[in-house]
Amino acid sequence: MKINNEAIERLNSFGVKPSMQRLAVMTYLLKHRTHPTVEAIYLDLCSQIPTLSKTTVYNTVKLLVEQGAVAELTIDDKNLRYDSDISTHAHFKCCHCGYLCDIPVRKSTLLSVKKIGGLTVSESQLYYKGYCEKCSKLMEKI
Ligand SMILES: [Zn+2]
Ligand SMILES: [Zn+2]
Repeated sequence: MKINNEAIERLNSFGVKPSMQRLAVMTYLLKHRTHPTVEAIYLDLCSQIPTLSKTTVYNTVKLLVEQGAVAELTIDDKNLRYDSDISTHAHFKCCHCGYLCDIPVRKSTLLSVKKIGGLTVSESQLYYKGYCEKCSKLMEKI
């Protein structure tokens, strides 16, 4: 498993001690912008790191999310998904095939609100759901 420098920097800047497993998970998330689940991360990494367990992957992503190094998405009601892109952006999920992608949004949108009256916002997510291009075409044929 090749660890990239970006992963080391990301962990350091968010105060996460860079253990081998944490670096592996962070590197994986930086390389795979598909918003993978714990299951997907584990299945891909366990061939390279035979000592890795699913619990370790689970605990690692939880820690990365807690420290703010990775974003957790609840758009998929079956599985939590993880995103190394922590900049402001929205997500789209296809209800048919599960395809999940980034939707760029401008910084000035609702997502960047930090205060609403007396309320302090620590997290905001904007989700779009519908059908991807491929599935939309399939639907037309039926
Ligand atoms: Zn689809
Ligand atoms: Zn994303």
